[in-house]
Amino acid sequence: MGKNVTEPAHEIDIGRYRVAEEPYYANVRGEVELFLTAAKCRMPVMLKGPTGCGKTRFVRHMAHRLNRPLITVACHEDLTASDLVGRYLLKGQETVWIDGPLTLGVKHGAIVYLDEVVEARKDTTVIIHPLSDDRRLLPIEKKGQIIEAAEDFLLVISYNPGYQSVLKDLKPSTKQRFMAIEFDYPAAAVETEIVRREAGVEYEVAGKLVKLGAKVRNLKNHGLEEGVSTRLLIYAATLIREGIPVDQACDVAVARPVTDDADMQRSILELVKAIF
Ligand code: ADP
Repeated sequence: MGKNVTEPAHEIDIGRYRVAEEPYYANVRGEVELFLTAAKCRMPVMLKGPTGCGKTRFVRHMAHRLNRPLITVACHEDLTASDLVGRYLLKGQETVWIDGPLTLGVKHGAIVYLDEVVEARKDTTVIIHPLSDDRRLLPIEKKGQIIEAAEDFLLVISYNPGYQSVLKDLKPSTKQRFMAIEFDYPAAAVETEIVRREAGVEYEVAGKLVKLGAKVRNLKNHGLEEGVSTRLLIYAATLIREGIPVDQACDVAVARPVTDDADMQRSILELVKAIF
């Protein structure tokens, strides 16, 4: 009684993974040129840095620029190799193989972005190792196949060293397969332009929020777990644009998201008063 295996039952439209409109991205420290070179040389890329400092926006911008589909996977602790590679599913009477996002990207020459890869289960590293060296191979264990990555396939991972502990870190054997582009908060002038543009506020408001951002980031040395992200500064600016009073906007978009400590929140609101 052999099972009826059909493949591929339904073609996935890779076109829907294309980034239609160019996402705005301010090149902060030459990362655009580095990424273009990595793509040309088919070198896997690791984006390192804190949350909300532009990694996702950067990948979308680059995918558009290179005109390659972008497949993003938000990694989490239950993510297995099968989630990435694919699995057989029962559809009516048939057993159908469904490509996972990684297989799809490997076949179609996409940029596959594994966001926060360290969160994924350890068996995923077994999958990405042969893909991220010069073999560029993806083993599909369940099908007994090994497929070679298409010319344009590019593996990109993100990694926030700030969150890592000894128990949860990328193994050196994984890290050392990627070129690493370091992301950090942009310089004040660049960040001001980003906040102004993204939130549609006056230059002056953006400038003050960026100044606040710098001061809050300094609090990191005084017990704050992570500095305020560019994303949060954009949230605060957006609320101000919509008419929320400055202190309230900074309270809900800066002070409360970055810390649960009431004293620390008060210190941040003191900074708001001093700046605005
Ligand atoms: P990450 O992926 O690092 O967590 P995101 O890419 O989501 O962060 O960035 C958060 C927001 O900050 C973006 O939506 C974008 O508005 C803004 N941003 C940060 N850096 C830049 C940059 N260099 N150019 C344009 N926008 C940026």
